Amino acid sequence: MGTSSPTSAAREILTRLHDVMASRGQAQAKLDQVVDIIAKALNSEVCSIYLLREGELELFATRGLNKAAVHVTKLALGEGLVGTIAEHNETLNLAEATSHPDFAYKPETGEELYHSFAGVPIVRAERAVGVLSVQHESARRYDDVEIEALQTVAMVLAELIAGAGLIDEATVRGADTRDTGSARLTGLRLVDGMGAGLAVFHQPRVVVEHTVAEDIEAERHRVYSAFDKMRDQIDRMMSQAEFGAGGEHQDILATYKMFAYDEGWSRRINAAIDSGLTAEAAIERVQQRTRMRMREINDPLLADRMHDLEDLSNRLLRIVSGQLGTAAQIGLRHDSILIARNLGPAELLEYDRRRLKGVILQEGSLTSHVVIVARAMGVPVLGRVRDARRAIGEGDMVLLDAVQGTISVRPSAAMEEAFDTKLALGQKRRAEFAAMRDLPPVTTDGTRITLMVNAGLRDDVAALDTTGADGIGLFRTEFEFLVSAELPKRERQQRLYRDVMEAAGEKPVIFRTVDVGGDKVLPYMNSDSDSADEENPAMGWRALRLALERDALMKAQAGALIAAAAGKTLNVMFPMVSEPWEFDEAHALFEKQRTAAAAKGKPLPLAIRYGTMLEVPALAEVLDMLLPRLDFLSIGTNDLTQFLFAADRAHPKLAERYDWLSPAILRFIARVVAQGKAANVPVGICGEMGGKPLEAMALMGIGIERLSITPAAIGPVKAMVRSLDLSALRTAMGELLAAPRRDMREALQQWAKANGVRIS
Ligand code: PEP
Ligand code: MG
Repeated sequence: MGTSSPTSAAREILTRLHDVMASRGQAQAKLDQVVDIIAKALNSEVCSIYLLREGELELFATRGLNKAAVHVTKLALGEGLVGTIAEHNETLNLAEATSHPDFAYKPETGEELYHSFAGVPIVRAERAVGVLSVQHESARRYDDVEIEALQTVAMVLAELIAGAGLIDEATVRGADTRDTGSARLTGLRLVDGMGAGLAVFHQPRVVVEHTVAEDIEAERHRVYSAFDKMRDQIDRMMSQAEFGAGGEHQDILATYKMFAYDEGWSRRINAAIDSGLTAEAAIERVQQRTRMRMREINDPLLADRMHDLEDLSNRLLRIVSGQLGTAAQIGLRHDSILIARNLGPAELLEYDRRRLKGVILQEGSLTSHVVIVARAMGVPVLGRVRDARRAIGEGDMVLLDAVQGTISVRPSAAMEEAFDTKLALGQKRRAEFAAMRDLPPVTTDGTRITLMVNAGLRDDVAALDTTGADGIGLFRTEFEFLVSAELPKRERQQRLYRDVMEAAGEKPVIFRTVDVGGDKVLPYMNSDSDSADEENPAMGWRALRLALERDALMKAQAGALIAAAAGKTLNVMFPMVSEPWEFDEAHALFEKQRTAAAAKGKPLPLAIRYGTMLEVPALAEVLDMLLPRLDFLSIGTNDLTQFLFAADRAHPKLAERYDWLSPAILRFIARVVAQGKAANVPVGICGEMGGKPLEAMALMGIGIERLSITPAAIGPVKAMVRSLDLSALRTAMGELLAAPRRDMREALQQWAKANGVRIS
């Protein structure tokens, strides 16, 4: 052939294809012309196009093979060389086709004449929808330039055949299970539960619609400015410290940055544009090529980086094509399983709760706020599913089993049946727990445990009724701030607090003042960039620290709470108190609001009970000073344990490293409980730890008798409580903590089993 660089080989073909694409003929006639053009340009005796129809690869056009075989020759996925290419979405380049183990002879084609064979998949939305192949009489391998040209042309073909309706869109969306096969993935269980739906990507993948460029210079400019925008975005995310709004982590951002500024990447995209592709097609083309290379190298470390490059490439595509909305903004149209690398809590709250049946995160950890929000929404979440993006296609059927930690993608009938059976079983168990609704949480030796629920959304109050809980032990008021586009007005807050108290009736509600900052970023509050450049937001300007300084926010909230609790007892609690004076200031601020309301003759609460969260270990050392001023203390184990272990609660690599049942945590809490008892101040737990039956049992073993937990945990924890001999446990715990075993979990599990405690 007369060309020497990949650019010119592809460009020559693309120029000619451009005219074919623009012409008004029938799709079949166009395909017939395409095979002629390619065969001539590559000096091949044969060029053929196979398309996936009803699960089989059908010969649609050929130059060189028997024309009578067109629409007659069909290959199953995985059958013959063509079937292998489509099944594995890979390129084959063989000097001697017959010596390949997958070679299958189709007599009607007359292909026995030809020795060499090269074929590339025709890909749409990362799925093979057909195969483009060339064959040659002499036994020679096609060179890289020719393969490159074939791959580029295959992209254009994907557009042509999709535009002509020659492929089933169901195949592209992957809904046709016969074409793609089932897959099973595993992950870390973050929120228990099961859900089924079609896969939706939080950041939807862009399907490239136009592949052949009209004006190469214009396409080049589009890519340049998209690169500029993307680099800006990444720089901005990096300056927003450890968590961007999307929850991306610093080391990922560093890799993003490395790729975003990588000259090689932009050069390759430019070269693809030179060959005649649009900006979108060029980005996709380079990504396809990288994917193929990576597959050949097969190195797990590089595969990790590949995820980052995939993300970034998708970001670039979204910028260039102007398709910027998240799936939430577009709206869920059916029962959906959401897939994201990571999410911020506010981003999750944007989704329609009725249609969101589950979330799959490529990262994620048990106590990150997005997970807490998901738990509050009752949406099962599986985390650390590294392969999610590669293995799941947009629109694929997904069965998420976050009880077991597995995902079935494009399930077979047998998989669906097993899932449905388990779902029914889960419902039965839930029904059993629901039947315990009116039974008190009393241990077998007669101790009444207080079981309350954590809440934050207006609808959560309903959980009091369905679970029979004793009250709301933690109302995270910041959720309202997270779901709003702007700072919620005092009146709106007041209405919410009043509604919540009214719905709770006689049962107490403990309102925690706003805990924002950390991984709960409010876009409308970062404008002055006070917290934008923090390196460690979890240990930074957040919660009470921020609220005392921004006291307008705190005053409005105090005013709203006091007004909402008129005629009732108001329970307030402050987050992240680190030294007693911080409590004193917050307390004084509330009292001032009460005095002001009284001076205006407004109706007041009957009483205000003040409490503090214990989340910062330092506070434990000065509790003797603080306890006399407190009405109650609530231990927030999510933050407390991250600070005790110096282990970021949202860091995916640390998600499973330290155990809540470690002696360090249990001894620490035991000391706090003892101090509270001595000062006659009730001490409870409101972190996620209390919602796990075994952990809850351990906490009761060291003296905790008040738990505020996620509503779904009330049933399992109550069942544990009602089967527990507390005094026997306390003796056992005393011994265990005096001489701890390395595996406390195992020891406690054994004790529970031996003593007939129901741990589900
Ligand atoms: C905690 O830290 O344990 C807690 C309950 O508060 P949050 O999870 O909202 O930070
Ligand atoms: Mg906390």
